[in-house]
Amino acid sequence: MNHFIYKNGELHCEAVPVARIAAEIGTPFYLYSHATLSQHFKAFDTPFASIPHLSCFAVKACSNIAILRVFAGLGGGADIVSGGELFRALKAGVDPARIVYSGVGKTREEMAYALKENILQFNVESEQELDALQEVAAGLGVVAPVSFRVNPDVDPKTHAYISTGLAKNKFGIPIETAGEVYARATEMANIKVQGVSCHIGSQLTTVSPFIESLGKLKIFIAKLRDRGIGVTHLDLGGGLGIKYDAESPPLPAEYAEAIKKEIGDLDCTLIFEPGRVIAGNAGILVTRVHYTKAGPSKKFVVVDAGMNDLARPSLYDAYHAIEPVVEGSGGREIADVVGPICETGDFLARDREVPVSAPGDLLAVMSAGAYGFSMASNYNSRPRVAEVMVADDRYRVIRARETYESLIRGEVIPDFLQG
Ligand SMILES: *Cc1c(COP(=O)(O)O)cnc(C)c1O
Repeated sequence: MNHFIYKNGELHCEAVPVARIAAEIGTPFYLYSHATLSQHFKAFDTPFASIPHLSCFAVKACSNIAILRVFAGLGGGADIVSGGELFRALKAGVDPARIVYSGVGKTREEMAYALKENILQFNVESEQELDALQEVAAGLGVVAPVSFRVNPDVDPKTHAYISTGLAKNKFGIPIETAGEVYARATEMANIKVQGVSCHIGSQLTTVSPFIESLGKLKIFIAKLRDRGIGVTHLDLGGGLGIKYDAESPPLPAEYAEAIKKEIGDLDCTLIFEPGRVIAGNAGILVTRVHYTKAGPSKKFVVVDAGMNDLARPSLYDAYHAIEPVVEGSGGREIADVVGPICETGDFLARDREVPVSAPGDLLAVMSAGAYGFSMASNYNSRPRVAEVMVADDRYRVIRARETYESLIRGEVIPDFLQG
């Protein structure tokens, strides 16, 4: 359920016509619905209300501080993967006691920053990272709360680039050998072992891999407890998928029921790191048609947004529905929707039935709220687009469109090239 709907043939975000925003601020832009963001957060979080838990939004999915503020206001936390994301989460008003820090390559500087801010836990992914964290925590005279990310070797049956829980992936510590790492960590003066964490992949469309992985984690936790290692937190990561096209992922409530049933009386605070399932269908990318052209074998619709603005089609061959902002004759044709970037891989849709368009028409690239703007780049020296949030009948620019000046910020022509 989301709040991008047609009224009298015009796409609206809540009560605001999308075309009005385009006329006032120009294109392209990302557009998020406040009501949808809150509703999706609650749809995920509420089914767990009966058990101790914390929903930490995966900041990398959609990092704008206004978006993070929405979840902070609903009692949510943040799952971060860099010092930059910690900075954003804090600026947005996320309680540090609700921040978990994931990722295979945390630097010592990032560790120190997170320790000073007193975050809830570090999800440590290797022994060397553990040693580094012990060293940094000792240097600061503090104790680092730690959970190890274990790799359960479960196939999430999703795109290879976003599978993370297979033995061959770079993430986590193999579940077979993780016990020894826990034992070592309990001996460390500046490490407090508190949990087990896991994240097996993204855009999962069935619950079974989650349950298979949870089954393995339960056995693992029981073994740790037998050795006298306390486990109070179990972080199940993110990964629940959404409908882009014909997928039929489980509803968050169904996911929650399955987890709660499997969890039994485990006696842990559960942590979740949902990203896509909350933000994905709460945002769209609005773009304007520049030209249409008929090649010898194909039609192309050239729009003003490209792979630098939305990388997912090029990167993962991902599907995003393309809808008209103002419904025209209703006619459709097969075409490629392409951007202005000098790469053949620069497309938003390929061989797709799309609305028949003319120069000046507006198109909505649907389901672009997650891994959309957060993956955008300046490739081809294109200023990054604006981000806008609608709440009921109001809209606000939550990130200004970049300017040419912002493209060269920090660049310097060195003295030996001057004069
Ligand atoms: C990317 C990521 C998430 C979020 O995944 P979604 O599929 O967007 O829910 C959660 N946890 C970790 C560790 C991640 O890397």
